[in-house]
Amino acid sequence: MKKLRYFALLALIPLFIKSTPLWASPDMAREGALVKDPTGRLYKLIKGHPDLIIDHRTSAQFEVYGPLGTIQWLNQIGAHPHSFAEDFNHSQKIAVGYPSPEEIEDQLKEITQKYSKIMKLISIGQTSSGRDIWVVKISDNPEEDELEPEVKYIANMHGHEIVGREMMIRFLRDMGSLYMKSDKAISTLVNHTEIFIMPSMNPDGAARKRRGNSGWKDLNRNFPDFSTRDNQNDSHGREEETVAVMNWQDQRNFTLSANFHGGTKVVNYPWDTSSKVAPLTQLIISLSKEYADQVPGFYDSTEFEGGIVNGNEWYEVDGGMQDWSYYYYNDLQVTIELSHSKWPNYKYMDQFFQDNKKALYQFLRRSHQGHGLSFQSRDAKSVEVINSQTKKIIGKYPVRNQQFYKVLPQGKYQFIIEWSDGSKISKDIEVSFDPSKLSPKYLFL
Ligand SMILES: [Zn+2]
Repeated sequence: MKKLRYFALLALIPLFIKSTPLWASPDMAREGALVKDPTGRLYKLIKGHPDLIIDHRTSAQFEVYGPLGTIQWLNQIGAHPHSFAEDFNHSQKIAVGYPSPEEIEDQLKEITQKYSKIMKLISIGQTSSGRDIWVVKISDNPEEDELEPEVKYIANMHGHEIVGREMMIRFLRDMGSLYMKSDKAISTLVNHTEIFIMPSMNPDGAARKRRGNSGWKDLNRNFPDFSTRDNQNDSHGREEETVAVMNWQDQRNFTLSANFHGGTKVVNYPWDTSSKVAPLTQLIISLSKEYADQVPGFYDSTEFEGGIVNGNEWYEVDGGMQDWSYYYYNDLQVTIELSHSKWPNYKYMDQFFQDNKKALYQFLRRSHQGHGLSFQSRDAKSVEVINSQTKKIIGKYPVRNQQFYKVLPQGKYQFIIEWSDGSKISKDIEVSFDPSKLSPKYLFL
């Protein structure tokens, strides 16, 4: 009898650990720590905890974020956490030379004024501290909404992952200056694409040099998620930065995106939240691989084969932006980790940009490996995409803003359009890709 009770108690230990009430909400990054875990034992113990965020897992260690009490709890379970707060003074020292969010805003104003022929600065909303969330639109007629593939880059959603923000600033300057010099490849890209760049989604976090926003919330755990209970694509009750991105996405027709982080070097592809295979996974892998193949530290990575990784195989992320974008908007998004250090010495920023430059341009060009529809005379409800050769249904997608555009593997397809009255028509579509000829392909209906 005594023995039985003992075992019953043992069985309760994991349950107790998972439900220990620290605890406020699952997207809180109030405290953070590095945990050494060469055997993987602690990862197994902590993974799936409803209040804790795991990030940047390697074979030797991982990061944990959570509400107040996280460090104490990690100590209690014997995880020997190395608190990031202890590093705060260190990070203050190494953050020397980096612009403040206000200086970034000034730089964006200066760049977009200098290259106003192709750039327009747009605020898509404000943080709770009143900082604007800036986006630069780049196209040959930036004031006009043209029928061209729409692509976006979002950086710095984690405030202390700063390399992406600096890289985007350098990317804008590079694109502007090459366009003004009539560089053929860059002009072709800019003239036929609507490019949107958000250097900093979390300026409040960047100002405080921390992961979360001003309310300590982890924005990359704050989006709707098809595989959790928070599966309604509704911005109600979310953080200001998340709401701004959600409203913006809803007004546009993005087809391809990347969001930039720091902490390792890898292209992370969907899904993050589920072990199911994402639609068009081979295409996603090839796009990820094409990026990684062009960047040192990625293609020769010793941690990730070929510099790419499936998000869920790496570690599960619930409420992430990447999956939200692909699942709810058919906007294929990857997450690119740019640097091992989150605040590298500022003098290396130009080098980071040079290392990624070719890959950044080529990823944008890939938006042209697709086909669109423009509905001018009738309201369309949905488009079903079928591979003409295999007859396999790739997916059925709602039509928004009277447009549809889908990036696909090269080949032949059938687009079956369902009108608002329920009737249908079918169109034969061919998808090809030639980076030197990027004229947008749309069918007008
Ligand atoms: Zn991050």
